[in-house]
Order: sequence, then C-alpha cells, then structure tokens
Amino acid sequence: MKKVVKFGGSSLADAKQFKKVGDIIRADESRVFVVPSAPGKRNSKDTKVTDMLINTYNDANAGKDVTENLAKIKARYDEIIDGLGLKDFSLDKEFEKIAEDIKKELSLDYLASRGEYLNGCIMAKYLGFDFLDPKDVIFFNEEGHLNVYKTNKVLGQALKDHPHAVIPGFYGCDKDGKVKTFSRGGSDVTGSIVAGAAKVDVYENWTDVSGFLICDPRIVKNPAQIKTITYRELRELSYMGASVLHEDAIFPVRSAGIPINIKNTNRPEDEGTWIVESTGQKNEYVITGIAGKKDFCTVLITKSLMNSEVGFCRKALQAFEDNGINIEHMPSGIDTMTVVVHEKEFINKEQAVVSEIHRNCSPDTIEIESDLALIAVVGRGMKSMRGTAGRIFSALAHSHVNVRMIDQGSSELNIIVGVKNEDFETAVKAIYDIFVTTKL
Ligand code: ASP
Repeated sequence: MKKVVKFGGSSLADAKQFKKVGDIIRADESRVFVVPSAPGKRNSKDTKVTDMLINTYNDANAGKDVTENLAKIKARYDEIIDGLGLKDFSLDKEFEKIAEDIKKELSLDYLASRGEYLNGCIMAKYLGFDFLDPKDVIFFNEEGHLNVYKTNKVLGQALKDHPHAVIPGFYGCDKDGKVKTFSRGGSDVTGSIVAGAAKVDVYENWTDVSGFLICDPRIVKNPAQIKTITYRELRELSYMGASVLHEDAIFPVRSAGIPINIKNTNRPEDEGTWIVESTGQKNEYVITGIAGKKDFCTVLITKSLMNSEVGFCRKALQAFEDNGINIEHMPSGIDTMTVVVHEKEFINKEQAVVSEIHRNCSPDTIEIESDLALIAVVGRGMKSMRGTAGRIFSALAHSHVNVRMIDQGSSELNIIVGVKNEDFETAVKAIYDIFVTTKL
C-alpha cells in the first residue's frame, strides 16, 4: 500500500502544525510521497506566504526595494526551522539566490512558487525524505496545460528512484524550462498528479476540516458531514459554488482509479470524506450535498409551435454565444425555453442578446427576470428513492419559498431549483432540514 499525502497551507503554517504533519506521516509507513503547500495563515489576521510573495512581486515590479519583504518571508521560515529544532539547516543561501534571481529576471510564477519550494526543502530535511523539484518533473505544454504524457513518464520514473520523496505543490516547468504555477490552490493538483504518476492506492488531502459538509456552515450551523461522494457528485456541488478541491485535481486521480481521502490535520483520527469513482455504499441521507449560488437571470423565450420548428433552440442560443455569454441551465417547455445565465455576465449585453434572438428566430415574447438564486440538491441515491422532488418542494412551500424554476438532469443525480435571491438561505435550510435534521 502506498499513499500520496498533500498538506494545505494551514497544516504547515508554523512549527506546531509541521510537527503534527510529521507525526501523521510517521504514523503510517505507506505515506511515502509528500506534497506540501506554502505556509498559510497562523490566525485570521495573518497573511499567507504565497500572498506575501505576490506582494513582493508587485513591489519589485513597481521598482521598489524588496529587501524588507524578503526578510519578513524568511522570518516565517526561520520560525518554523527553529521550532522544529533543525540545527544544521538554514535557508540563507536559498534567499540569496531568490534575491539574485529577482534582479536577473522578475517572474510572478517563479516568486509565487517559492513558498512551496522552501516549505518542501524544510519538509524533506525534517522527514529525512528526498527532495524532488517539480521544475524537473512536472511539465506544461505550449498551450500552458499539463503535459500529461511527459509528466507521467519523468515523474513516474523519479518516484521509482526516490521511494520516499517530498515534491512541493503548485508549480512545474513550462515549455521554455521556466517555473510555471497552477492557479491558486494548485497544490491539490500537484498531489493528484503525483498520485497518478506513482499509481498509489490513495491520495490523502490533508486540510483543516474533517471532510466536506453537506451544506455551507455559514447557512446551517454544524451541518452533517459527507462520508463518501462520487467524482460526479463533487463536480455538481463544486460547480454550484461549494468550495472544495481545486477543480483540476480530479482528472489525474480519476483517470488512474485512485480514491481521494480528505482528512483533518488537527483531528487525524477522523475518517474524513472519501471521493470515489463509484460506490455501492449508501449515504446516511438520501442526498449527498446541497450547494447554491445567487445572482442569476432567466431569459424566457416563447413562441407558439416552437416544438415543431427545427433549429429554433440553436438559433436562439447563437445570440448568447455571439455575445460571449455562458449558459448555465436550460429548462424547456413545449412552446417555451428558458435560458439561465449569470447576471453579472449578462446584464450589460442583455439588449444585444434580445435583439439578436428576435432577428434569429422571431419569438412571440422574451421576458427577462433577475435576482434568481440556484440551489443544487445532489445525491446518487435520489434516483432510486421515490418522492425526493416532492419532499424538496413541500419543504420549500412550508417555508414560504416560491419556486421559480426547476431543472432535473436526466442522470437524476441532482435537482436544481431556482428561488429569489432573498429566499436563498431559507430554502437551503429548509432542504437540509427535511433530508438531514428530520431524516425523512
Ligand atoms: N500556495 C498556493 C496558494 O495559496 C497554492 C496552494 O496552497 O495550493 O494558492
């Protein structure tokens, strides 16, 4: 059994957290490949090292002297090194090199990546593991996407040669041999790539919560936790705004059939949440999760005999495409179609879209409504349960929430309801209560 373990910034914010991480790794000899983030916030007022580095880049770019910035960042690392008692180890040379590199060529990606790089150096020393620089083993192609083939080949071999290794998260090497980062939160992606290349059994993603919650704790106090979720369910929930893993972290492990286990560094004994391809395990509740977002618009297009007019939908949708507007959902009736779009994206272009729809397909009416919130109720168990939709709607009715739109995908993995922005929180609570609190 082999595992990749990725630790987020809050798990590595100071020496105390680092020690917890060390204990976790040493407690299980299958934890052979370690992917660290940069040190995160030590308290709510603190600044993440990655943000300090980005600020340093901005200052350098504005022609300011950044000696002070680098000294502050170094102090964060020195505190960790001292706290871990690593006597014969220092990052002095590394910081000299960073200062020189900045003078030679200023690069945002390079500077931002140093947070992970330096944390990786400390982690390798602390654990006695080998250090692999992602610049040598993770590759991007000309379009700036991951070069999957080259990465799997080179990284896969390197991991065979180094059976215990630390591989810093968040960056790799572009086609010109320069450091390139993933988007923010990208250490999740590195962990997944390492897991896929080494073909390990499990990718453990350690953070500061014991897995995913059924819904946003800002709306429902102490919501229950999700024990197992499939990749498809996760996709539905994160699309609807549940902030979970970095989106790109799914593909490398999913394609290699490796499950992800989200774990809590501060409560390692908790089982956490398992993310899997498919499972026969039943969830405690009919639904797996609830997520939602505010501020959508609906564009209701009507035309009598629309159902028998070939090409009507395509022509209507062309107006959205020509104006660069993403379509979120599209529930339709016999002589009506509704296009749901993001208010922010749409509002400035609404009249251009409306006139193009008129030109393209001469509808009878077009009605626009704004201030719509969408709520996705997701669950693989829904398709085999009678009355799930009925329960959602009666819960909403009892809470005096008016449902303005309903959309159920044919996969029956989710039901999407549209409500007024102002009813959003009440609606989420009502759905949570009916399925989880009262366990109906
Ligand atoms: N340190 C990077 C960030 O703050 C990457 C990560 O933590 O995953 O976005």
